[in-house]
This record gives sequence, structure tokens and C-alpha cells, in this order.
Amino acid sequence: MNAIDRIDIAVIGAGLGGAAAAALLIEAGFEVHVFEQAPEFVRLGAGIHIGPNVMKIFRTIGLEDRLAAIGAHPDHWFSRDGMTGEYLSRIKLGDFAKREYGAPYITIHRGDLHAEQIAILPKDRLHFDHGLTDLEEREDHVLLTFANGRQVAAGLVIGADGINSRIREKLLGVEKPRFSGWIGHRALVDMDKLRATGLDYERCVKWWWDQSRHIMAYATKGDGSEYYYVTGVPVDSWDHNAGFVDSSREEMEAIFGAGAHPMVRGLIDATTEVTKWPFWNRDPMSLWSQGRLCLLGDACHPMRPHMAQGACMAIEDAAVLTRALSLTGTEDYRTAFRIYEEARRERATKVQTISNANTWLKQPEDPAWVYAYDPMTVPLH
Ligand code: FAD
Repeated sequence: MNAIDRIDIAVIGAGLGGAAAAALLIEAGFEVHVFEQAPEFVRLGAGIHIGPNVMKIFRTIGLEDRLAAIGAHPDHWFSRDGMTGEYLSRIKLGDFAKREYGAPYITIHRGDLHAEQIAILPKDRLHFDHGLTDLEEREDHVLLTFANGRQVAAGLVIGADGINSRIREKLLGVEKPRFSGWIGHRALVDMDKLRATGLDYERCVKWWWDQSRHIMAYATKGDGSEYYYVTGVPVDSWDHNAGFVDSSREEMEAIFGAGAHPMVRGLIDATTEVTKWPFWNRDPMSLWSQGRLCLLGDACHPMRPHMAQGACMAIEDAAVLTRALSLTGTEDYRTAFRIYEEARRERATKVQTISNANTWLKQPEDPAWVYAYDPMTVPLH
């Protein structure tokens, strides 16, 4: 039998939140290892917004300039009526965001962001093909067992393992997430067809219909060579076992085509491959940590994606948790976890609530409370 490896901190899951936690904890001098079930990551066709609130965190780990160079820099978040094209709101980003919120607002391909986050992690701290199957809390460590047979004794365990978290299950029991009643279609559009429309597509625009049905469309590369959309559509049920299934231009046409604004029509016409995804949900949780276990990101507060802040909240969590552990040291982890939850619970729950309501920036409003927030300096008590 193999000797059991002993480490100070294990992060379970190297998604956007777990990879950020690992990088921040390494930067702060902790002995941390991150364990990911996937054998590798692939560049799936999807985009993501990263707000100034999180670009400030990426500054700390040396990624801000790199991501700013790859990503697109929308000068506004526009909300428009999907039929008439009328502008419902124009939220200033671009140089205004840099000046007022302290960092750029970018939109980027999710795979490109994740690849940069993974590339800065030392190879010997990141363990692919390590799906956590069991964990047992012992007096001075947690014994982790992985699907590949390996066992690791960790002083602390951070559950960054997403909405179906094993760590959450340990804290709160087995409970499947709830289908939110909404799905999203995701597509990278055919740029030749989009350009052939002759229309000037905004770098970040959300098209709205009744019942808050929408298409959020944006550039995912700074050079304008990639354009992406994600929809939000209420449905009665999700009857597939798979995480996502294929959709089609015809389905997009059926949902959004009738009477749509010419720019929306152009988007639909430029659709070649499109998939559809169910949005899952949980109510805010009663417990964020217990003993040596602590949750962050979707493991802790999953939300429908309509505020474009789910991953941002995961990365903010990672930053504040790292700061709390730096204040207390790993020995006094109970205090660190308390500081962390106190600093994060209200904000994450507020974002979760507004995101689920799908009202964000539909009308003119001041987004400063989200974007000007600085997780690296916010006071911790
Ligand atoms: P995840 O990204 O789910 O990562 C969890 C990781 O843990 C995965 O790599 C998984 O393989 C691994 N894992 C799971 N179980 C185990 C195990 N047992 N052992 C080891 N590893 C395990 N957020 C934004 O901020 N901006 C956006 O614009 C945005 N757009 C979105 C659009 C859509 C359509 C959707 C669905 C979400 C969007 N989000 C957005 C939300 C964002 O994707 C999530 O909030 C974010 O990915 C959560 O990060 P995480 O690290 O907590 O979890």
C-alpha cells in the first residue's frame, strides 16, 4: 500500500474558483495542492465576463495584463429590446470602469481565461485525474480518497468542486440541486456571416423579450475575431441526463425569430453550432464551513448566470479566504473560516438573489457596489 501524502491545504476542483484559490494561496506562501477530477481541460465554446472586482484579484497573481491583452473591452453594457432595438440602459464600462472601479471590465473566452489560470500553477501542485470519492475527518487532518486509489492527509480542505460538491454533501447531506426552470443556449457565431450583415455589433449587449427571455451577446477576443451569445429561456422541465445537449439554428429561430430586430436576426443566421444547458440552483446555505472543511464558489452559492458574476463570486471567495488564512495562520482555521464567511455571506447571497431574478442592468442603475468592490482590501473582522 502507498504511503499517505501529507499536505497543509487541499483544494478540491481546479475550476475558475479552485484555480484562483490555489494561485492565491501559493502566492501567500501556503503549502497547497489542487485536485481535479478531469484528466485535462478543453476549450469549450463559451464566453465569460470578468468584472473589475475580479481583475483586481488577477493583478495580485500577475494575470491582469495578460487577460486584458486577450479579452475584449466593451465600452458599455447595453440592454436593448429584442424586437424594436430600443435602448433600455447603457452602463458605462471601458475607460470609465478603469477609472471609477479601479480595473478593466473584460469579456473573454472561458477556455482562454481558464488556460491562463492553470498555466501559472506549478505543475507539482496541480493533480489532474484526481476525482475525490471519499473524505474522513480525523483529529488533526482530513483523509482524502481519490478515484485513482491515491490517499492524501490534508490539514484543511477547500471545496471548490462546483454545484454537485462532495464537500457540500459532507457538510449538509446529499441533496440534488434544483432545476431552476431556465435553460441557456450557447454559441460562438460564424464571423463571416456576422460581418456579411454589415451591421455594427456592440461588444456587450443583452437583448430582452417578455418574461425576461434574453440573448446576451458579446465579443470574446480583443481583436474582434470571436463573438458569442448565451440565452436565458424559461422552460417547463429539463428531461435530459446529459449536462448539455445540441440545439439548432431552427430552435433559435423558433424561440427568438418572430419579429426580432435585424441585429438579432443576424445573430440567429450566423449560428452554426449551438448547445443548450440547464441552469441549476440551490437556496443560500446554512453552513459554509465545518471543522477543517470550507466551501467556495458554486459549491457554496450556485446561481443562474444572468448577472455574469458567478465565477467572479467564486474568485472573490478565494481572495477573501486566502486573506483570512493569512491573518490567522492555518492552525487557527476556525477563526479564518468565520472571518471569511462573515465577509462573504451577505454579498454572495445578494448577488445570487439578483442573478436569479434576472433584473441586472435591464434598466439604468449604478453597478458600483459590484464592480468597485476590492476583495484584496475590503476590511476583514
Ligand atoms: P466549477 O467551475 O463548476 O468548477 C468545479 C471544478 O471541480 C470542475 O473543474 C470539476 O471538474 C471539479 N470537480 C467536481 N467534483 C470533483 C471531485 N469530486 N473531485 C475533484 N474535482 C471535482 N460567471 C461569471 O462570473 N461571469 C459570466 O459571464 C458567467 N457566465 C455564465 C454563463 C453560463 C451559461 C453559466 C452556466 C455560468 C456562467 N457563469 C458566469 C457562472 C460560472 O460559470 C460559475 O459560477 C463558475 O464556473 C463557478 O466556479 P467554481 O470554480 O465554483 O465551480
